[in-house]
Amino acid sequence: MMPDFARVVREACADALALILPVSCAGCDEPDVALCERCALALTPDPTRQLVEAPGGAVAVWSGLAFDGVAARVLRVIKEEGRTSLAVALGPAIAEALARAGAADAVLVPMPTSRQAHRRRGYRVPELLVRRSGGRPVRLLRYARRTSDQRGLDRDARARNVAHSLVAADAVGRRVVVVDDVVTTGASIAEAVRALRAAGADVVAAVTAAATPRRRSTAGERLLDAFETHR
Ligand SMILES: [Zn+2]
Repeated sequence: MMPDFARVVREACADALALILPVSCAGCDEPDVALCERCALALTPDPTRQLVEAPGGAVAVWSGLAFDGVAARVLRVIKEEGRTSLAVALGPAIAEALARAGAADAVLVPMPTSRQAHRRRGYRVPELLVRRSGGRPVRLLRYARRTSDQRGLDRDARARNVAHSLVAADAVGRRVVVVDDVVTTGASIAEAVRALRAAGADVVAAVTAAATPRRRSTAGERLLDAFETHR
């Protein structure tokens, strides 16, 4: 299929660029290494679970890492600097969260990427993370309308911003897990769960590479702000 072919070429180009351009550790800026040993170790999965309220009942969200420090920086460079080859370092975080969610047999449904974000980046981060965890992403969700930037919005405003922004298709009777890069307030995941349930899916859980800690350092706050651009 053409779109998949285009994706493969873009990802290959991004990976090739990472080889050509001077590189430094995505976690700590140590020169000449994409990810140093210490930062790789900091990405050892340490899964946490939280409940996110959604229409039809709360859903367990399992996250492989805390969105802070190395994990936050690595996610940012994958998302905003095109260093897609680093997604492999977050594969275990997704895989471990999936294992904890007891979702081995479920269909892995990535959060969709908006058309604007896909045009700008050339790749879809949640899908990339699913693949690097050894899974196969199945696109059941798409945007029904545009949403605003979530930056600077409080919990209620985020929920309003994403309400009824997604639709699901081909979901009847399927056991699914929603996969996203980061969970913050859970508003996006709740909307994905709503759309999937409305389309007849059985939502088992949601899984993310990282979860925003309830209390963040100022540095973590800045990273989150830099991270949460348009999806
Ligand atoms: Zn490092």
